[in-house]
Amino acid sequence: MDQSKIDALRVRPVFPQLHLIDGKPVPASDGATMDVLSPLDGQVLTTMAKGTAADMESAIASARAAFDDRRWAGQPPAARKKVLLKWADLIESNALELAVLGVRDNGTEIGMAIKAEPGSAAGTIRYYAEALDKVYGEIAPTQSDVLGLIQKEPVGVVGAIIPWNFPLMIGAWKLGPALAMGNSVVLKPAETASLSLMRMVELAHEAGLPPGVLNAVTGEGAVVGEAMGLSMDVDVLVFTGSGSTGRRLMEYSARSNMKRVYLELGGKSPNIIFADAPDLEEAAKVTAHGIFRNAGQVCVAGSRLLVEASIHDEFVSKVAEVAKGMQVGDPLSLQTAIGAVNSDRQLDQNLGFVETASAEGGQIIMGGNRILHETGGYFMEPTIVTGVTPDATLAQKEVFGPVLAVTAFDTEEDAIRIANSTVYGLAGAVWTSNLSRAHRVLRDVRTGVMHVNTYGGADGTVPLGGVGQSGNGHDKSLYALEKYINLKTAWIKL
Ligand code: ADP
Repeated sequence: MDQSKIDALRVRPVFPQLHLIDGKPVPASDGATMDVLSPLDGQVLTTMAKGTAADMESAIASARAAFDDRRWAGQPPAARKKVLLKWADLIESNALELAVLGVRDNGTEIGMAIKAEPGSAAGTIRYYAEALDKVYGEIAPTQSDVLGLIQKEPVGVVGAIIPWNFPLMIGAWKLGPALAMGNSVVLKPAETASLSLMRMVELAHEAGLPPGVLNAVTGEGAVVGEAMGLSMDVDVLVFTGSGSTGRRLMEYSARSNMKRVYLELGGKSPNIIFADAPDLEEAAKVTAHGIFRNAGQVCVAGSRLLVEASIHDEFVSKVAEVAKGMQVGDPLSLQTAIGAVNSDRQLDQNLGFVETASAEGGQIIMGGNRILHETGGYFMEPTIVTGVTPDATLAQKEVFGPVLAVTAFDTEEDAIRIANSTVYGLAGAVWTSNLSRAHRVLRDVRTGVMHVNTYGGADGTVPLGGVGQSGNGHDKSLYALEKYINLKTAWIKL
C-alpha cells in the first residue's frame, strides 16, 4: 500500500450523502440532514440524509415490490451469481477509495481497514455468489404414493442494521447471503459509519443489481431503525450491535409481525494464558493486538486476559511492552497501529469504565487517558488494568474500547469458571501446550468461537455467532444462509 495514494484520497471532498431507494439517491422526506463528524479531527466531514420513518417505509415498500415481481429472485442462479461476482470485483477495484472514505468516517487504522473492510467484503460477496447455485432442496423419505419435497425459498424482505466498527465487512456478512438467496434488502448503516457502506451499495447497482432489491436509508437508529423493526413488511431482521439495541429489536418484532430477529451482540471474551503456553512472546503480541487494534472496537476482542498466577507479572509486562510499541494516532498513516475511537460519546464511555475500574480496586498499569487533544480527534491510550475481580464492572461489561481487564487464576477449573462468569459467550482463546487441556477448556468455555494458541483471524469459511447474551444465529460460512431462507414442504399425492 502506498501512503501517497492514501494522502491524495484523504482530502477528497465528500458529497452530501442521500438515501438510496429504488436505485436512486433521494433526500429525507422532510429534507433534514445531519452532520457527519470525522473522529480524526472532530470536524464536519459532510452531511447525510436524516431519515424519517416515512423514508424507511418507502424503502421497505420498494424492496417488497422488487421481491413480489421476482425481478431478482426470479433470475436464473447463474445471472444472480454474475451480478454478485461483478460487485465483488468492483469492491476490489475501488478498495482503497472505500477504505479511506470509511476510515475518515469511523477512525479504524488504515492498515487494518484495507484488509478487514473492502478486502473482506469482496471475499464474502464472492463466497456467497459462488455458493448460490450449490444450495439444493431435498426429497423426503415419504411413503411411496407421495412425493415430499423440501424446498428452500427466499424469505422476502430482509432488514439489516449495521454497526460502525466494520461497516463493509459486517455489511457484507448480511448482504452476501441475503442477496444470494434471492431476497430483497433494506439496509440501515450506523450514524457514525455510513459513507463507505453507502458507496458499496452504489457499486452493487453499478454491477447490475436491479433497482429496489437493495435500498439503504441513513439516519438515527432510534428513528429509521425503529421504523424498520416495527414494520409489518420486513420478514427477517439481522443485526450486529449492542445488547440494548438487540433487546429493543426483539421487542419491535413482538409488537409488530413477529419477524425473525438474528442478533450478533457484544462480548467480554476471555483470553486464557496458561504457564505452559508454547510461546509467551507470541502470546503477548497476539494478546495486545487482540484487544488494541481498531482501538478495541471489535466484537470478538479479547477484552479479558486471564493469566495463570505463576506467570502473571512476567506476562503482563510483556503485553505492556508490545502495547507501548503500538503507535496511536492518525488512522490514515500506515505507521499507525491503533486508530481513533469512533465518537466522542464512545470515548467518554471508555474513560468512564477506566474510572470505575480504578474505583473498584483495579490497578491501571498502563494508559487510561485521552491523548492527542491537539488534533481534535478522539484518541485513547491502550489501557491495561490488573487486579480485576471476576465480578468487577470491567470484567462484566463490554467496553468496546482499548481497555484490557487482567485477572489472575490458579487452576484450570478456576480459569473456566471465571471465563464463564459473564452473560456473554462470543469468543475466547486458550494458550497451552497441553493438548488435553486445550480440548477441555475449549469444550467447557461457553462461546461461539474458541481459539487455541492464537487469537482472531477466523475466515469466512467458519461461522461466527454467540451464545448467551452474545446473540443467536450465525454470520459467515454456509450456515449463514439459513437465516435468509424459508423451508417449504411440498406434499404431492402421486
Ligand atoms: P452503539 O451504542 O455502539 O452505537 P448500537 O447497537 O446502538 O451500538 O448501534 C448499532 C446499530 O443499531 C446502528 O446502526 C444504530 O443506528 C442502530 N440502532 C440504534 N438504536 C436503534 C433502535 N432503537 N432501533 C433500531 N436500530 C437502532
